[in-house]
Amino acid sequence: MKIISDIQDLRDQLRGQNRAAFVPTMGNLHEGHLSLMRLAKQHGDPVIASIFVNRLQFGPNEDFDKYPRTFEADVEKLEKEGVYVLFAPTEKDLYPEPQEYRVEPPQNLGKILEGEFRPGFFQGVCTVVLKLLSCVQPKVAVFGKKDYQQLMVIRQMCHQLAIPVDIIPAETIRAEDGLALSSRNGYLSSEERAEAVHLIQTLQQVQEKILQGRVTAAEILQIERDACAQLSSRGWQPDYISIRKRKDLLSASDSELQSDEKLVVLAAAKLGKTRLIDNLEI
Ligand code: AMP
Repeated sequence: MKIISDIQDLRDQLRGQNRAAFVPTMGNLHEGHLSLMRLAKQHGDPVIASIFVNRLQFGPNEDFDKYPRTFEADVEKLEKEGVYVLFAPTEKDLYPEPQEYRVEPPQNLGKILEGEFRPGFFQGVCTVVLKLLSCVQPKVAVFGKKDYQQLMVIRQMCHQLAIPVDIIPAETIRAEDGLALSSRNGYLSSEERAEAVHLIQTLQQVQEKILQGRVTAAEILQIERDACAQLSSRGWQPDYISIRKRKDLLSASDSELQSDEKLVVLAAAKLGKTRLIDNLEI
């Protein structure tokens, strides 16, 4: 595997490749990331991965400085997956001058849910993803459904800006107890790790309630409130538990619920100092 940090070196290395499959990451790789590499292999060749902890998407009080950086171990894992090039730019490589041009996602998708609780997050994500896509110029790029809203934001960005790339969604990989794998799980104490499973369990209970029979928009609100209260009573601080339409992440009206609109329940909650997100398609 070639490890490249310079944008021009990357372009030289990839010249003539027109079927490349790209998987951007922030490193500290786990089985979730590796499943993306395997999916990428099914959709293109060669597979290009990137590791870059993107300062632009972290708020001032978020975990940019303490975000886990495990480069050597990551390289070993990517070698085993047969990744052809690892693009691992430094901040100077990717942002040699202040990044003044930014991509601002539309309010209706970018300022709800994660966008409400992490101001600037999707602007940072879109800006880096657009820049990485412009460096790698892949045929396809793979993103995890673990970050459900991010996947939608990126897909819409590529659509509206006519970026010639297919965005491939990857299923969420979970630990045996159901907790979605995440680099941030490493922040949890052993007690918190045992408690963390209640996030997906709460989403499963929400799912069951919705599948029991037709629900109204008012009942959905009550199910969301109950789910938040349940997590709070266990010591969590939920930001949101929201049942939304899969197609646009907006709330469903009564008539949409009547006509079997496809739904997803999304959650973000803090356990101690660690903020976890998860979702479940209903
Ligand atoms: P990150 O390194 O957290 O920025 O994630 C890089 C990519 O891996 C994103 O597309 C994530 O959605 C995806 N990802 C993270 N965790 C998982 C998981 N548990 N299962 C599947 N994909 C994941």
